[in-house]
Amino acid sequence: MKTNVERIQKDIEILSQFNATPGRGLTRFSFTEEDRGAREYIKSEMKACGLQVYEDAAGTVIGRLEGEVKGAPTIIVGSHFDSVKNGGNFDGPAGVVMGLEIARSIYENKITTKYPIEFIAMIEEEGGRFGSGLFGSRAMVGKVSREQLDQFKDNEGISIAEAMEAFGLDPNKIQEAARRPEEIKAFFELHIEQGPILEHNKKDVGIVEYIVAINHIEVVVKGRPDHAGTTPMSMRIDALDSATKVISKISAIAKEAGEGTVATVGVLDVSPGATNIVPGEARFTVDIRSKKQECIEKVVKSIEKALKETAKDNKITYTITEKLSVSPIKLDEKIIETFDKNVKKLGFSKESMLSGAGHDAMIMAGITRVGLVFVPSKDGRSHCPEEWTEYKDLQKGIELMYHTILDEAVDVENEG
Ligand SMILES: [Zn+2]
Repeated sequence: MKTNVERIQKDIEILSQFNATPGRGLTRFSFTEEDRGAREYIKSEMKACGLQVYEDAAGTVIGRLEGEVKGAPTIIVGSHFDSVKNGGNFDGPAGVVMGLEIARSIYENKITTKYPIEFIAMIEEEGGRFGSGLFGSRAMVGKVSREQLDQFKDNEGISIAEAMEAFGLDPNKIQEAARRPEEIKAFFELHIEQGPILEHNKKDVGIVEYIVAINHIEVVVKGRPDHAGTTPMSMRIDALDSATKVISKISAIAKEAGEGTVATVGVLDVSPGATNIVPGEARFTVDIRSKKQECIEKVVKSIEKALKETAKDNKITYTITEKLSVSPIKLDEKIIETFDKNVKKLGFSKESMLSGAGHDAMIMAGITRVGLVFVPSKDGRSHCPEEWTEYKDLQKGIELMYHTILDEAVDVENEG
């Protein structure tokens, strides 16, 4: 292999030390002391292999390797280095370390590329501090306004703009982080799977073909609050009883829709919410994800039908409100072909996958071609201290990326 597993392990272990909650998982919010420490380490590693290092107006760290062709579009490679509260050492940093290791491997093999490559480490992807997730990538595609920097605040009431200023960045320049589509050739991200499929199917890497469509709906079922002791069963309009009749059908509805469709009821509120009162209202949410928009529509229609039938039998009324609708994203076919070719060449095994989570890749797909690779997560765990990927498994993902990015950067088949 062209990459080095000891260096990969060392990067992950060093980055995990920049942590606000030692012993209770990794907490690294953006524009904090922990961010500063991790950022300085990333920058020093980038400088050591000859990259030209700077930060964009949003605070994303960029290490640029010039290509041979003047003015050629850039290949961008990386992920984020912030974390959730009490999370793990791999969600985000795995993809940043991928960039560092590829940069080092290119440097020591004295490879020159036709296209420039920018290795990047983005911030506030998780929205852990300000609730403004995918911040670095959204700024890069020009989707963060100056006003938003005042609107989003952390738990202590500090706005993004104030935190940026305290960190040495000028919030008034946020628009300068935006990149033009024509200056980018492709974006490559490596991420831990955060699910159990690769481990379960004993596959080395996941090649993501789609980032799923997401739909959030909120259902409110209205009945009538009554005394729990004096109202006979036949004379009740129990909102929760009706809501649960519908909820109990949702997993079967999702399975029937196919195409990897999943549906989750994650919130259920009952009011008045007292032991001795028949529920007058029940509110629940449904998170629906699928690679096909029509599967999502099918699920919503089936939920509507179930509500309608229940309403007829039980005299309840209901409303359905759409809270979020994100279209599916198909990742670049030519990049997927190159991944497949290199998987064979390297003797790895692969799984073609859906990504059930967004990632910076989803945002970058708005302006450029995108490739996304997953590496296995132990027991499928993520966003918790137990989050773990074997270093040799992470190396396989990095090795695949190394070859694929070089194919893209020299634009010659079978190079590398
Ligand atoms: Zn992540």
